[in-house]
Amino acid sequence: MKNKGILIVVSGFSGAGKGTLMKKLVQEYDNYALSVSATTRAPRDGEEDGREYFFLSKEDFERKIEQNGLIEYACYCGNYYGTPRDYVEKQLDAGRDVILEIEIQGALKVRKQFPTSLLLFVMPPSVQELKRRLTGRGTETAEVIEKRMVRAAEEAEGIEEYDYIVVNDDLETCVRELHEIIVAAHNTPYRNEEFIEKIREELEVLSKGEK
Ligand code: ADP
Ligand code: 5GP
Repeated sequence: MKNKGILIVVSGFSGAGKGTLMKKLVQEYDNYALSVSATTRAPRDGEEDGREYFFLSKEDFERKIEQNGLIEYACYCGNYYGTPRDYVEKQLDAGRDVILEIEIQGALKVRKQFPTSLLLFVMPPSVQELKRRLTGRGTETAEVIEKRMVRAAEEAEGIEEYDYIVVNDDLETCVRELHEIIVAAHNTPYRNEEFIEKIREELEVLSKGEK
């Protein structure tokens, strides 16, 4: 029996490696659909509209909110970020696992709307390594990096809300662990209620027939 896809939420401090991990995960395994968010932040060098993000003006973003076009949205370090509704709903219906790489406020909103969503938090091996990665990426000013580190300390308070943490030390190992957690999540009883019910009904019919 075909499962509906799982909605997978991936969060983690800026620089922990979420983007890098998600890119590899969708390259290596077939069943994942990576949602592209909308944002009002400026594109980084090399980012393309519609690929990393839909880059919107503040006015266009606020229009999307009004039209109920976003599953969730949040403000992060002075910019809006949000998940477009259409893509997520279509991919889940088609049986694909949809990945949202979003920050913690959005993650908690998704959990409320989709109680069977799977919440994963990517940890760096150490804070020193986090700072090194964030600085090494070379895409933010020192001021923005400081803001993001402050935000990391705030986000750290919410980690227990997640179902699993994964440590992104060796990239390949972490990608494999993410995939294994998702595979296991598919087999939880509460994500298989229809199938369990069907078997129960068949058992009922069979046991009546045998009386
Ligand atoms: P995030 O999306 O969480 O902000 P990125 O994916 O942009 O983080 O990664 C931040 C930086 O760390 C990038 O320069 C990336 O190449 C590097 N990086 C990611 N994962 C690893 C890893 N496992 N080991 C070493 N460097 C990594
Ligand atoms: P960045 O500017 O580094 O691409 O992203 C900043 C933060 O915004 C990251 O924590 C990222 O996960 C988060 N983010 C990206 N897209 C969304 C979204 O659609 N909704 C929410 N709530 N957060 C998002």
